Amino acid sequence: MLFKSLGSTPQTVSLSDAVFKGLADDGSLFMPQSVPVLEKDFFDRLPALTLPEIAFEVLHPYLEEDLKYSELKEMVESTFSFPIPLNLIHDNVGVLELFHGPTQAFKDVGARFLSRLMSRLHPVSDKKMVVLTATSGDTGGAVAHGFYKVPGIEVVVLFPEGKISPYQQNQMTSLGYNIHAVAVDGAFDDCQRLVKQAFNDRDLRQSVAVTSANSINLGRLLPQMIYYFQGVARMMEQNGGRPPVVCVPSGNFGNITAAVLAHKMGLPVKRFVAATNVNDVIPRFLHSGNYEPRSTIATLANAMDVGDPSNWPRLFELYQQDIEKLKAEVSALVVTDDEIKETIQSVFETHNYLLDPHSATGYLGLSRGLKKDETGFFVSTAHPVKFLETIDSVLPQEAQKIRADFGDAFDIKGSHEMMDNSYKSLKDYLLEL
Ligand SMILES: *Cc1c(COP(=O)(O)O)cnc(C)c1O
Repeated sequence: MLFKSLGSTPQTVSLSDAVFKGLADDGSLFMPQSVPVLEKDFFDRLPALTLPEIAFEVLHPYLEEDLKYSELKEMVESTFSFPIPLNLIHDNVGVLELFHGPTQAFKDVGARFLSRLMSRLHPVSDKKMVVLTATSGDTGGAVAHGFYKVPGIEVVVLFPEGKISPYQQNQMTSLGYNIHAVAVDGAFDDCQRLVKQAFNDRDLRQSVAVTSANSINLGRLLPQMIYYFQGVARMMEQNGGRPPVVCVPSGNFGNITAAVLAHKMGLPVKRFVAATNVNDVIPRFLHSGNYEPRSTIATLANAMDVGDPSNWPRLFELYQQDIEKLKAEVSALVVTDDEIKETIQSVFETHNYLLDPHSATGYLGLSRGLKKDETGFFVSTAHPVKFLETIDSVLPQEAQKIRADFGDAFDIKGSHEMMDNSYKSLKDYLLEL
């Protein structure tokens, strides 16, 4: 399959270009040129398929021209090697747990699949290939684990010294091999600036193939569709075969784009709900028709603190940029920090289920608008262990239990390099890697 860019001067590129460039020349996003619709026979078999089997059949139409059958098979087996269970919280509300991967966040699947894709599509050359990324916490761990020991690729993750939690830091610094975690003396913005400078440095790019693994990469987006095939299949076993409502806690709107793409491939879903925190650009857009990006507001669900969602143009494109068509299938609503805390507490007390702050927005987003005759599930995007301070503030005893379960994960260990925030230091580092 070929991939098209969404800018005003459309570009059509190969899978390899879409994956290694990340963005088109005009800075717009890539999308599949067409959306393949799966056969009825696939949906008849879906309930009995394993995760790697689902992934193979869903991803095959996008990748068949670029990968051998055996390669794709191996990639989906090694990516989807942990469970993605659906639990019923109460009668008509389910939770699909996306946090059973190595860094306890849903970004693991995308990062794992992208790493394997890059490793196979990597053009033969003597240039060293480096995935360079800046992180304020969550992405770095997922990318580090996703690319760990992947042949032919070095990973450099820049994080702001002293500004991320010990738990998150350990996820990057404890690995070694091809994973290089570098603490920058500065803020997250400094890390991002350094990464941008490296991407724009032609001289550097003569000797090092630097590439990004950020969330706009199609290689991360496509495999996230599998969540929704799994969720719908499991929910329909519970509810007598009715298409469920699906709620996705959203920041950059990548995960919900994958969900809608799955629906366009034929997956039965009644409707979608995007739950955001108070960074509410999209809920306001659906209300007013005006898209007004804003600077971000810090919230308890901080992986969703996004003021200009990068994947939004893709979701809009799936509805031909027609707001009425989109609103017929997708609604959006806002959850405040106070509501996040109340939800964590009340869901635990009433249903004995512990939510992290992101998943709490998903729960509330779903249960608020669910009609009597509807059933639905939301996705739980992180394990509460990753956001223990919030759990501590509402359910201290539960936080303590988690701390005991995860033990030494909270003590700083492993090693990392230190770097001042000058570009010259980064460049020298990359050249010597
Ligand atoms: C990244 C992230 C999100 C938001 O996902 P998008 O695809 O950016 O909408 C939600 N929850 C957690 C825990 C995340 O890490």
